[in-house]
Amino acid sequence: MLTIKEILIPGYEKVIEGLDPARGLHCFIAIHNITLGPSLGGTRIHAYHTPEEALQDVLRLAKAMTYKSAVVEDGLGGGKSVIIADPHKDKTPELLHAFAEVVDSLKGMYIAAEDVGTNTDDMKLIRQRTPYVCALSTDKSSGDPSRFTAWGIYRGIQAVAKKLWGSPSLLNKTVAIQGLGNVGGKLANWLFWEGANLIVADIDAKLTHLPIHDFGAKLIPPEQFCQTECDILAPCALGGIFNAQSIPLLRCQAIAGGANNQLSDWEQGHLLLERNILYAPDYIINAGGIINAAGEFEPGGYNPKNVRSQVSLIYDHLLSIFDKAEVEHKPTNVVADEIAEYNLTNRIGKRSQPITFKK
Ligand code: NAD
Repeated sequence: MLTIKEILIPGYEKVIEGLDPARGLHCFIAIHNITLGPSLGGTRIHAYHTPEEALQDVLRLAKAMTYKSAVVEDGLGGGKSVIIADPHKDKTPELLHAFAEVVDSLKGMYIAAEDVGTNTDDMKLIRQRTPYVCALSTDKSSGDPSRFTAWGIYRGIQAVAKKLWGSPSLLNKTVAIQGLGNVGGKLANWLFWEGANLIVADIDAKLTHLPIHDFGAKLIPPEQFCQTECDILAPCALGGIFNAQSIPLLRCQAIAGGANNQLSDWEQGHLLLERNILYAPDYIINAGGIINAAGEFEPGGYNPKNVRSQVSLIYDHLLSIFDKAEVEHKPTNVVADEIAEYNLTNRIGKRSQPITFKK
């Protein structure tokens, strides 16, 4: 039997825990803020060690979604969901249906999409039990967001190059990518054709064959990622990897990758500034996916060409954040947060028409 329990968390609009042991479900959905519109954020399936670890992850991820959507002004709020399960072994239609019923109980306050451990096929299964899901592979939907996330990161890496070396060209620059999944794998492709040298790491050895063979990438063990000598580190796996222990070991000039919540906490931005390492704030550089998903709710319907133009602007957004941070002697993540908070306070980008969902 499915049970849904509300957990009161200060600063969050609504947080719920869903449990259905018979169908293998244990999930949390966190809605951080819906000032600018209904919350949208991916569904992560991960083998968390404890429910507390899963809860902390969903809280951090949901807040980052509020900030991400506020900066790109997509008329959405911040939310996220996590399911405690191994995506390779435990993901069943029954589990996803039970999860969909939890999403449905929120009546559109939260819209699910794909994230680590889920894909467009999973979204199709979720859609069988609730309309509050996007990024499906159907005609009217926006499809796999990772192609736009990867494109946005590629544009963000070009902005880093422009800021550091005066040109967006990545010819002969060395980029180390951690995680070769939906985002990192596609990013490797863009970077190879741009002339970059690649270093790659993934805990899943199967995913490293292609970049080694097709792109001449150098393989490193996953645990060596942070201390790898390169021009740019592109973390595209899980968050929290830059902390007081790892930052002193960095041997790169910039960090620009797709993972959410890369800094263990916002103060790490000061450490990066002290080390003169240019940091592309995660929720700015990886906003391509949410921009694509939001495209589904445009009055004229989804148009990938419009989405491509909007995602390309990540290059301009980042350059202006880099310049402001330099002038004001602030970490780049602090400047990004200030923009998000300004937009939230002043209701900039607030959705004017509600989204219509068909049951
Ligand atoms: P994914 O599950 O497809 O890929 C993640 C990859 O990282 C996997 O191949 C996994 O084996 C690898 N990995 C995990 N831990 C690792 C480690 N310690 N060292 C090396 N590799 C490791 O997920 P994804 O969709 O590519 O997302 C990657 C990151 O980007 C996540 O943090 C996600 O939240 C973020 N993100 C994704 C999107 C999107 O559109 N998919 C949008 C915005 C942000």
